[in-house]
Amino acid sequence: MEQEEALMATLRRWNEATREYEPYEVPDHWKLLAYSNDMDEPCNCALCGRELAFGECYTSFQVHTPAGFGYMVCEACHFSIEVPQRMACRG
Ligand SMILES: [Zn+2]
Repeated sequence: MEQEEALMATLRRWNEATREYEPYEVPDHWKLLAYSNDMDEPCNCALCGRELAFGECYTSFQVHTPAGFGYMVCEACHFSIEVPQRMACRG
């Protein structure tokens, strides 16, 4: 009975170029965290889905909770995607 849409969670992702949020879908089984007090808590990178421990994550500049907190992303995504986009859009 499951439909494909039901397996995706829709978040929102900040677009540095347009300065607006865009719908952003991730697989429903990804565990995304914006906050934890357990540095060993497992979570997935909000961009590539890699499994991480909370303590080794970076706060996303782009994928945010409805309240505006950044979800956790891995070091590679943070420095190869998010930081360059931010630098490029802030002259
Ligand atoms: Zn990543």
